[in-house]
Amino acid sequence: MKFQDLKTPVERIRLMEELSKKFLSRAAKNDEEGLFPFENMKELKESGYTSLTVPKRYGGKEISLSEFLHLQEKIAEGDGSTALSIGWHMGIIKSLGEKNNWEEAVFKKLCEDVKKGALMNNCATEPQTGSPTRGGKPVTSARKEEDSWIINGRKSFTTMAPVLDYFNVSATIEESGEIGNFLIPGNSTGLEIEETWDSIAMRGTGSHDLLIKDVRVKEEALVELFQTGKKGAAGWLLHIPACYLGIAQAAQDYAITFAKDYSPNSIKGAIIDLPNVQQKIGEMEFELMRARYFLYSVADKWDEANDETRSGMQPELGAVKLAVTNAAITVVDLAMRVAGARSLSVKNPLQRYYRDVRAGLHNPPMDDMTIQALAKNAIK
Ligand SMILES: Cc1cc2nc3c(=O)[nH]c(=O)nc-3n(C[C@H](O)[C@H](O)[C@H](O)COP(=O)(O)OP(=O)(O)OC[C@H]3O[C@@H](n4cnc5c(N)ncnc54)[C@H](O)[C@@H]3O)c2cc1C
Repeated sequence: MKFQDLKTPVERIRLMEELSKKFLSRAAKNDEEGLFPFENMKELKESGYTSLTVPKRYGGKEISLSEFLHLQEKIAEGDGSTALSIGWHMGIIKSLGEKNNWEEAVFKKLCEDVKKGALMNNCATEPQTGSPTRGGKPVTSARKEEDSWIINGRKSFTTMAPVLDYFNVSATIEESGEIGNFLIPGNSTGLEIEETWDSIAMRGTGSHDLLIKDVRVKEEALVELFQTGKKGAAGWLLHIPACYLGIAQAAQDYAITFAKDYSPNSIKGAIIDLPNVQQKIGEMEFELMRARYFLYSVADKWDEANDETRSGMQPELGAVKLAVTNAAITVVDLAMRVAGARSLSVKNPLQRYYRDVRAGLHNPPMDDMTIQALAKNAIK
């Protein structure tokens, strides 16, 4: 069954539920062994999921932001690493379709390739810049040589590096000092993946270093010029909180199942009936409900807004990310308190959720920047 054959969002979410169960069955092994989830990616491609955000004008489904986030949340219930990884690809394609600011022929070709299963991601972070959202200038350089660009540098945190067909690399142009994104095909000579990803969180994202040594690309590979740290409101980045919300939901589901089963001999029945356990389950439910309403009300607003309204949404998009990610951390903490010391066993999925959910703090935008943006907005 393919997503493209399904007519309604409800049918598509059901198909994702089926895939997500398979992802969950593989998550522990991938996490323990630090493996990239190749099988999950293959299934997402074969199901047609990876092209769902391609614009209609290029033969895609162009699903709404809200539907995209629901599907991402479902993936994350099975495996956070898979969700975060594919979320970048899906979101970038969605955003490019909305902004429509690339040379048409280049974006059209990319969309054609995506419909055949190609995957892409932005490679912005470098060891020297830290988070590019803070305005650091890429040390990665681009030099013009006749009708080509020669690119040199190192990118860190290149999520999905093992399977990317396109690396969208930010670089400083030597001649002008301008900053641009260069779309580099994955099979280019001079590209190398250094397997540096040793994080304890999101171990399956394959976020290795990308080495770029004298990579020659065509003139049209320069797809976009921009000012670092000033990319404007980006609804697609809500795939990040959606991912952590999915992980939190998985933690609550696990905690409830555990509490229904666990029956120490100090009580009659299971711990699910105890007031102290129900208190935590209720608190989890409250956090999830509040997070979900915030996430989807802002996503719906984005879907309905025109470009002008969207351009003013950066503070609330940041607020959603801050609120939902921190709520997810709280939910996982509460779930672990329900399960007790067993939650710290390597065999227990809660310890994976605990590590994975922390990564959200270090995905953009960072909390302190959001609070500053909200302050500026309020003062204005
Ligand atoms: C799982 C995961 C996947 C990722 N995938 C990708 C990807 O696909 N592509 C990509 O490009 N990146 C990716 N990233 C990188 C991410 O976007 C950040 O660039 C990265 O996590 C570094 O952020 P940081 O805040 O730790 O780093 P830094 O910016 O180095 O910050 C470290 C600390 O220094 C402080 N700090 C640094 N600079 C400033 C400043 N100017 N003002 C105030 N405080 C400052 C901050 O408070 C922070 O606590 C990923 C990260 C993770 C965790």
